[in-house]
Amino acid sequence: MPICIECRFPVEALYTAYSKADDRSLGKGVRLTQCPRCKRFADKYVEHDFVVLFIDLVLIKPQVYRHLLFNRLGRDDDKFDRSILRLGILLLLFDVYLTWARIEKLSLPPSSPHLSSPSTTTPSSATSPHHPSPQTTNAALLQAQPLILQYLFFLLLVLSSTLSFHLPIRLLCSLNPLHIPSPLRSLYRRLVPYYPHPTPLSTALLVSSCTKLFPILLIIWDYDLPSSATAVSWAVIVNNIAALEILMDCGYLRAGVLVGLGAGLRSAVADFVLRGVGLGTGWAEGVGDQVPLGGRRVADVVGLVRGVLGKG
Ligand SMILES: [Zn+2]
Repeated sequence: MPICIECRFPVEALYTAYSKADDRSLGKGVRLTQCPRCKRFADKYVEHDFVVLFIDLVLIKPQVYRHLLFNRLGRDDDKFDRSILRLGILLLLFDVYLTWARIEKLSLPPSSPHLSSPSTTTPSSATSPHHPSPQTTNAALLQAQPLILQYLFFLLLVLSSTLSFHLPIRLLCSLNPLHIPSPLRSLYRRLVPYYPHPTPLSTALLVSSCTKLFPILLIIWDYDLPSSATAVSWAVIVNNIAALEILMDCGYLRAGVLVGLGAGLRSAVADFVLRGVGLGTGWAEGVGDQVPLGGRRVADVVGLVRGVLGKG
């Protein structure tokens, strides 16, 4: 049953079509339902097009999430809507491209046998750790493999990290607190919401990951890819938390705990796979480098935002 996107009150229908002769896409012949509780339109997004939905999604408006999760993509049979499957594939393929471009530029681990000897590296690369030459980055190891193998590797890497993000969240939410031993039960209830419908959970996580499509702008503006990827991944995490909170109405703390656990496991799996094949993970810099590196990342993100605002 659809709900009012303003106050979550269930409504019979979102609109009434009173004339079939008019074009519904132009908003003619359709009367939006007024919510009996809050007296506002139950779902104004019925009339809005995809661009408005996408902008409001990026702005994390709860109403647009309720419209998508409950009124448009929600199904009674607990199966994925076809458009969500398509979105999932699109996000996966896009993530492969982004991950590939990001990992390629990271430094190889210091112990890697693929590191070129110092005599073959140029002096500028030896003195600039923040802009390593291709001989000292993961690209040196990756480009020794056929292109198809590189693609399959990144496809598997992204697939396994996506699964390791979705599965623990689905599992934790489906665990009935009554089956937890009583000393831990109240803590578990406080930290993890009970929501035994895994499909809407994955739908919410996929819809809120749409921000991942933003780096498409990188095709227009040439930015430093690793820092843009960092900014985008933080934006996606904020969207993920908001989407879970709106879906389950569970408070930001519990949504944050779930997304934090999922994201932690995701980066652990990606780290494990990358180390397993001998690629650098970006965490290999010395402890002394950590602070300036962090500061540089922040400066990069600020520069990126300034650039977008200035050029936009
Ligand atoms: Zn209402």
